[in-house]
Amino acid sequence: MSHSIETRCIHGDVHKFREDSRAISFPIYQTASFSHIEPGHNGSGFDYTRESNPTRSRVEETVASLEGAADAIAFSSGMAAISACFELFRPGDHIICSEDLYGGTVRLFHNISEKNGLVIQFVDTTDLDTVRAALRPSTRAIYVETPSNPMMNVTDLAGCAALAKEAGALLIADNTFLSPYFQNPIALGADIVLHSGSKFLGGHNDTISGFLCAADQDLADRVRLISKTIGNTLSPFDSWLVLRGMKTLAVRMERQQQTALTLARWLSEQSWVKKVYHIGLPDHPGYAINARQSRGWGSTFSFTVDSRETALKILEGVSLITFAESLGGTESLITYPLVQTHPDVPAQVREHLGITDTLLRLSVGLEHEDDLIADLKTAAEG
Ligand SMILES: *Cc1c(COP(=O)(O)O)cnc(C)c1O
Repeated sequence: MSHSIETRCIHGDVHKFREDSRAISFPIYQTASFSHIEPGHNGSGFDYTRESNPTRSRVEETVASLEGAADAIAFSSGMAAISACFELFRPGDHIICSEDLYGGTVRLFHNISEKNGLVIQFVDTTDLDTVRAALRPSTRAIYVETPSNPMMNVTDLAGCAALAKEAGALLIADNTFLSPYFQNPIALGADIVLHSGSKFLGGHNDTISGFLCAADQDLADRVRLISKTIGNTLSPFDSWLVLRGMKTLAVRMERQQQTALTLARWLSEQSWVKKVYHIGLPDHPGYAINARQSRGWGSTFSFTVDSRETALKILEGVSLITFAESLGGTESLITYPLVQTHPDVPAQVREHLGITDTLLRLSVGLEHEDDLIADLKTAAEG
C-alpha cells in the first residue's frame, strides 16, 4: 500500500521514481530534445519535450498517485486537457453533461465540439433518473462537475458511473473544485478525471496547467497519442511550479476549507445576503451525497445578495479580497460569474441555473478569517 495522501503530495510514489542527482527539489529539465545512444535506442526514455520530459513525468506521476489513476497527462491548461479529452470522440457521438459547468467548457462544446459533430446534451445530473432517461445508443460519455461551478450542485459519482457502465460509456469528472485531496472520482467508478491545475494543484495563482487522469492505461495511451500530436503539453518550468505547489496541497486545502466555512456561516447571518451555496452547510441539497463521496467541501462557494447594487458595491469595495476570476489559490478572489466566467452561457440557461446579477462566487485563500470578514463587511456596509 502506498503512503497517505499528505505524504504523496510531497513525494509522489517514491518507490516508482527517483532523480539520479538526488536533488531534493526535482530539477527543471529545460531542454527541447534528448540525445540518442544509437538508432532506435534513446537511453533515457525521452526523445523530445513535446511528447515527454522528466519534469513533466514527475508531476504527472504525482497527480496520478493522488488521484489513484493508472496514468496522468499534464497539459498547458485545464482547457487543453478538456479539449484533448474530447478528441477521443467521433462525429455523431452523444455526450451527456451537467447543465451547470465551467463557462470555458460550455464555450468549447458550443464552438468546437458541436462543429466537430459531437452531440452534447445538457441535463440536470444531480438527478440520476434524468441522466438515465437521456442515455441513447450513441451515448459515449457522461461528463460531470461535482460540485459544479458556480452553483455548487452535487452529482452522485458512483450512480453516474453505474449508468455509464451499463451504457458502455465513459464517466468523465472535472474534479477541479475539490482537488484529489478531498475527492477521488476514479475510486467511485470514473474513467477519466480532469483538473485545472491552475487552481488548487498549483495553488498560488501563478501558473496555468491542466491534467487528465485515466483509470486504465489503454485510455491514457490514447490520450498521450492525442497530446503529443496536438502538442498542448505542459512546459518543464510550469511542471515544476505545479510540483512545488502540490507539496503544500494538504495543508492549504485544510486551512482554506476551514476559513471558507467560517465565512459561509458568517455570510448566512448577514441581512444583505439572500442565500449561501456551500456544500459543507447541512441545508445544501447536495450535502449528504457530497459527504458520502468526498472528504470535504473545498474553499469555493457562491452566495446571492439582496440587489445588483449590493453585488457591485462588494466587488468594487473589497480591498484585501481581489475582484478576479479563478479559484483555489493562496489569495482570496471574488468573482461575478454573470460577466466573468459564464458570459458565453446562453442568457436563458443562466437564468434557469441561477447565475443572476446578484450572484457572487468567493474563493477563499490563506488570509486570516477575521481580515476577510472585515473586508466583506466594510465593502457591503461601509
Ligand atoms: C478553471 C477551470 C477550468 C479550466 O482550466 P484552465 O486551467 O483555466 O484552462 C476547467 N474546469 C474548472 C472547473 C475550472 O475551474
